[in-house]
Amino acid sequence: MTREKYDVIVIGAGIGGLTCASLLAKAGMRVLVAEQSSRPGGYVGSFKRKGFTFDSAAHFVTGCHEDGVIGKLLRELKVEREIEFIKVEAPVRFIFPDFEFSFSLNDLEGAERIIKERFPREAENLDRYKETLERIGQDIVRLGSSFPVWKIPFFPMLFPSLLKYRNYTVRKLMDKCFTNEKLKTILAISPVTVPPSKASLLMAAVMKAESQEAGIYYPKRGMQSFADVLVKGLRKYKGELLLNTLITKILIDRGRVQGVELADGRRIKASYIVSNASLKQTFYKLVGKEHLKRRFIKRIEKKELSLSCFILYLGVDLDLESLGLNFRINVYPTYDAERQYKIWKAGEIPEEFSFIISVSSLIDPTTAPKDKHTLIITTAAPYHYREDWGAKDRRGAEYRRRKKNIMERLIEKAEKIIPDLSSHIIYQEAATPLTLERKTLNTQGAIYGLAATPEQIGPGRFKNKTPIRGLYLVGHYTYLAHGIGAVTHSGRAVADMIVKREKQR
Ligand SMILES: Cc1cc2nc3c(=O)[nH]c(=O)nc-3n(C[C@H](O)[C@H](O)[C@H](O)COP(=O)(O)OP(=O)(O)OC[C@H]3O[C@@H](n4cnc5c(N)ncnc54)[C@H](O)[C@@H]3O)c2cc1C
Repeated sequence: MTREKYDVIVIGAGIGGLTCASLLAKAGMRVLVAEQSSRPGGYVGSFKRKGFTFDSAAHFVTGCHEDGVIGKLLRELKVEREIEFIKVEAPVRFIFPDFEFSFSLNDLEGAERIIKERFPREAENLDRYKETLERIGQDIVRLGSSFPVWKIPFFPMLFPSLLKYRNYTVRKLMDKCFTNEKLKTILAISPVTVPPSKASLLMAAVMKAESQEAGIYYPKRGMQSFADVLVKGLRKYKGELLLNTLITKILIDRGRVQGVELADGRRIKASYIVSNASLKQTFYKLVGKEHLKRRFIKRIEKKELSLSCFILYLGVDLDLESLGLNFRINVYPTYDAERQYKIWKAGEIPEEFSFIISVSSLIDPTTAPKDKHTLIITTAAPYHYREDWGAKDRRGAEYRRRKKNIMERLIEKAEKIIPDLSSHIIYQEAATPLTLERKTLNTQGAIYGLAATPEQIGPGRFKNKTPIRGLYLVGHYTYLAHGIGAVTHSGRAVADMIVKREKQR
């Protein structure tokens, strides 16, 4: 039984929403989280088929060490013992058209040595590039998730690299440092959904800092365990979670939130609403344009969504361990990342495209039956693939044909790396951008919310506080960035804002 009124209603149980809700519940507020799906976590989750545990979208978590954003959160909620993280130290393999190498994400120096051997003339330039990224990364880590207003005049002194490089793309720094075009592609291996000419240098620096400082982690028994432990944290402090509950309206009176309306017509009152939903859903569907200024609507329209992706989930009875397969293989069949991106943006799928193979069962054997493996292949994909996947009838025969065709192409490409793969598949299923949108309501199935360009990282993302009084945003459309660590920051930042506001009242 839900109450008639809560202090806070959180729309969506993504990691941003769950972080915010559990911290507010711990602060003594009456909190309700409404999630339209049948499981919490949004892009962080898993599903089970025939004994295989498939991670539906995200594969790894950073910041789980003691001082990390997630380590601290779990300790604060007193649930740190209810989850086990496996630190992933095994090497990742990178395959380029005429060059391949493996290294552990904790050992970036090892990777550097290999790259310097392959590109000896660029060795000193590589040091320069790396030092610049490290300086930016240190500034960002020091900055954290909030910056007091009184310190603003000192910002240039405190964070010089952040200021200097805030508008840089990865390509811009690379062009200053290197001459070899192949090397530029090799070093631009992330973030994957934007090419170097668009990717924010700050984002690349954060990702490097995060994996170098404290490594990457896999939650035992699959990514769902991480979302589930946050739900335990929420419930521990009497917060409530309603699954299968779609919010259809945010009720507003004279510019202030009053509560929400559910799909079944019920209304629940609340003093604060926190939306973990996409920008367009929050403002166009739930709030309504009539409550927004034209300038604000223009800001939403200007934002560029990140690409979506195609995910192939395979259960295989191959002994991948004795084949010496890496738990993660990033495959780049072309050095022309820019061209590949242009084709995706034009609503097509290139002949040759990059993809990632992840085998969670090589990290955590509990995710597959004995002697079998859980293999996931992910590639970027456009939402408007040949006009919405050729589907006027969105689940029709044409949609299924295209989906099957991409599944077969992915298996064929992966078979070049895993011999005989196709004859060892005992379970297969795939998700298209339409699936991602349906399951999480992320507009156009955007993987990272907004594209990680310099204009849309940090202050360029949406502010957590909105022009509607009492309405806040968390998640990967908002300050600071995408990724599990970043949305955890956003959840904490909004919890702090609401607690502070309540104290002032
Ligand atoms: C394929 C893929 C791989 C990724 N890999 C990684 C990785 O390895 N590591 C990493 O750090 N990040 C990764 N990411 C990115 C990361 O998963 C996301 O940035 C992050 O999880 C987004 O969290 P969020 O809080 O914004 O919520 P979301 O995950 O977007 O969840 C929002 C939730 O709100 C619910 N909701 C929306 N509207 C309503 C409504 N009206 N009523 C009720 N409920 C609603 C949705 O159902 C959903 O559960 C990956 C993303 C994808 C897609």
